[in-house]
This record gives sequence, C-alpha cells and structure tokens, in this order.
Amino acid sequence: MTGHIKEINADEYQKVVLDAPRVVVDFYSTECPPCEALASKYDALSEIYGEFVPFIKIYRQGNRDLSLALDVTGSPTVLFYKDGKLVGDKLTGGIKRSDLMKNIEALLTTDEIAAARKKIVPFETETDVVILGGGPAGLTAGIYLSQAHVKTILVDTALPGGYVATTHQVSNYPGFIEPQQGFMLSHYMSEQAKANGVSFRAAVDVNSVDLETKTVIVDGVETIRAKRVVIATGSRPRPLGLPGEDAYRGNGISYCATCDAKYFQDKEVVVIGGGNSAIEETLFIAKFAKKITIVHQFDHFQANKVAQDALRKLPNVESLMEHEPREFKKYAAMDMGVVVEDLKSGEKKELRTNGIFVFVGFLPNLEMFKEGLELDQWGYLKADHDMETNIKGVYAIGDVKTKAYRQITTAVADGTIAAISISKSL
Ligand SMILES: Cc1cc2nc3c(=O)[nH]c(=O)nc-3n(C[C@H](O)[C@H](O)[C@H](O)COP(=O)(O)OP(=O)(O)OC[C@H]3O[C@@H](n4cnc5c(N)ncnc54)[C@H](O)[C@@H]3O)c2cc1C
Repeated sequence: MTGHIKEINADEYQKVVLDAPRVVVDFYSTECPPCEALASKYDALSEIYGEFVPFIKIYRQGNRDLSLALDVTGSPTVLFYKDGKLVGDKLTGGIKRSDLMKNIEALLTTDEIAAARKKIVPFETETDVVILGGGPAGLTAGIYLSQAHVKTILVDTALPGGYVATTHQVSNYPGFIEPQQGFMLSHYMSEQAKANGVSFRAAVDVNSVDLETKTVIVDGVETIRAKRVVIATGSRPRPLGLPGEDAYRGNGISYCATCDAKYFQDKEVVVIGGGNSAIEETLFIAKFAKKITIVHQFDHFQANKVAQDALRKLPNVESLMEHEPREFKKYAAMDMGVVVEDLKSGEKKELRTNGIFVFVGFLPNLEMFKEGLELDQWGYLKADHDMETNIKGVYAIGDVKTKAYRQITTAVADGTIAAISISKSL
C-alpha cells in the first residue's frame, strides 16, 4: 500500500468519507483473488490521482455493519463519493483500471485531470512467454512454463479461471471423487500457477497484440515484449442474430445458467438449443424454474446420452422440436416473448415466458489477433502437434484452437504440450 492510501474503520467513515469533498473507497477482504488483482491498480492510481482525491481502504469483514448498511456484499467493492454522496459506478469483482480512472476523473476538474495524467509513465516489461487467457489451457501452460524456469506473464481481460469459474459443478475432471464447484477448481488452478511464479495481469484492457513482434500492450501503460505468445482466449456463446437479441441481452436473455438461473425460482423459462451445453444447462435451470420449454431445430437432441437420460426424468421440462426462434420481445421485467417457427408447417406462434436462455454453440475469442493466422472453416485457430500456429513462436491452446472436443481435460493437455515445446525451444 502506498503513502497515498489510508486505511480506516467504520468509526472514521463519517469524518474521512462523508465529510470530505470527494473520496474513493475500496472495501477489501483478505484471501480474495479479485482484491489482489485490484491492489496493484489501486496503488498505482493513488500515486497518480492521490493528491486530488483521498484513496481509502476499509476492511470489509472487520466493518461488517457499515458494509451491509452500504449494501457492500462482496469484495472488492469500490465506491466513489462527492460531498458525502455516492456517485458514479459501484465497481465489484474483476475491476479494470480503465473503469477506476473513468470514475475518479469524474470527480476532478479538467485541469486536475491534465495534471494527473502527466504522471502516467508508460513502461516496458520483458518476458520469455506471454499467455493471453487464463482459463484451464492458459493456466496449465503457465504452471508448466514456470516450473521449467521460463519467465511467464499471463494476461486476462477478466479474472483468471475462464469458463470453469462459472460452471456450476465439474464431475469429469480427474483427481476428485466428488463433483467440484467450477469456481473452486479454477481457483486451485490459478493459485497453483501463482505459487509457481506466473506473473498475472488480471482484469486488464488488452489494447493491442502484435504477433510478429510478440508485443502486447495492456491498460494503455505496460508494453510486454515476449519471445513467445500463447493464445488461450477460449470461446464465447454464439448469438442467434435475431431481432430483439441485442436489446434484451442480459436483460431478459441470458447465455449463462450458472450466473442467472437463480433469478427464475418458480418462474417459466424458454431454452434455445439442443446440444450438450443446452441440455446440461437445462438440468441446472430445472432446479429453480417451475417450467422449462426447450426449443430445438432438429427432431432429436445432440447432447450426450447421460444428459438426455437425466433430462427425461425431469417433470418440469417440455420440448418443442423442429422449431426455430425468429424474434425476441419484451413486455416488462420478467415478461418476455419468443416468436418461434414450426420448420415443418412454416407456422409461427409466440411463447410467453419469464426469461430466455440461449445455448447454441460458441465462437472463438480471436478478434484482436486474427491478422495473419490460419483458421479452420469454423474460424478456430489451426495449430500443429506442438500447438504452434502458422506464425513462428505463436501458439494456440484450448477452446480457441481447432479440435473435435472442447473440455477442461483437452484444454489442459494443449497447455501442457505447448509449454513443454516452448521450454525446449528457448
Ligand atoms: C456451461 C459450460 C459447462 C461446461 N462444463 C464442463 C465440464 O463439466 N467439464 C469439462 O471438462 N468441460 C466443461 N466445459 C468446457 C470447458 O469449460 C472448456 O472446454 C474450457 O474452459 C476451455 O478452457 P480454455 O482455457 O481454452 O478457455 P476458457 O475457459 O474459455 O478461458 C479463456 C480465458 O481467456 C480470457 N480472454 C478472452 N479474450 C481475451 C483476450 N483478448 N485477451 C486476454 N484474455 C482473454 C477469458 O477471460 C478467459 O479467462 C463447459 C463449458 C461450458 C460453457
């Protein structure tokens, strides 16, 4: 913690926070990876903006009543105050430097912003390997590289963990007799990588990636120069591209059951899709929703047999086969409509529901660095048996790479192969 940050407790809150003209407050906890990810950013920004705005820290667990009174229920939570009133965003979870800066600068005058920004000094870091993406693939590569004494920086636009962190339960990752909470499994992987010496840049903005020169710029200030680049950025849910989808994304339409199923306790939902993730996610949603209607384009599901058997046992699930969605509508909060078309008759009808979940496959996260890379027909990265792409020294691992099966085990296998191959080549 720098000299610009002051730690206070609840007794000092009135004087230091409410009576001050402007202030930024970080509610933190111990043993909290997102708090660790924030700490270096908060320190650095306090050096830049600290002469204008006091930077305060409050230990959340030690000041429980105050935290609850302010509806601060998770760590870290950063709040911004002007003249004793809360202003700006309430930042939580994987907090980005750019979001902190936006809210801090909203408290300052134009002259103060200009003076503060003069203190921002871009810097360069040299490393052997930079890994883009901290899911199971990237974390495994990091563990192997660090254990081989290869200097490794792992960059993630979110908190490390990848998809596993949001998966309810994982029952097929070897080494655990009981199903593991996805969050805990990803936590063990990140902690293992950290303990072995991987240097993290978590919840950062990736401004540019130059694969030829192996240069990555993060948060607008740090230029990372590496000898090798590993792309492990995974994939994201494929949108349907239908009217209403963009407007109601995250506001009636969800792509993540683990994140949103809890909001549909005793409600009705429509699930679009019929593959593994659609059926597995439906099994989870069924714990909450009183009725689920699955809309699927084919006359049978493509999910694995175990998932389909479990689905058949559920009393609250109906299937509308050989139908496709055509439009999403919203009438009010928790009052949605899906226009579906019968693919045999061409007839259209509207399903009225409380919420919609879309699980129709994935797209690789490659927008930043497609240039010059060879892709397969579905847009995934091609790589050889060492996981090296067509650009020398650039590797592709995990879900972002072309492959038949996208699983945690296949992602960690890719990470292992790339890391061993890189270690030998350096
Ligand atoms: C709902 C669901 C349930 C699943 N259940 C299981 C299961 O039970 N068992 C199993 O084996 N598999 C399961 N899977 C599949 C498994 O989660 C994936 O195969 C695995 O996570 C892939 O790992 P990855 O590291 O390649 O990518 P991801 O886990 O997707 O991680 C990619 C990381 O890259 C980061 N990133 C993205 N873009 C950038 C960028 N431009 N720069 C830097 N970082 C970036 C992301 O923030 C993320 O942390 C499930 C998947 C889903 C969606």
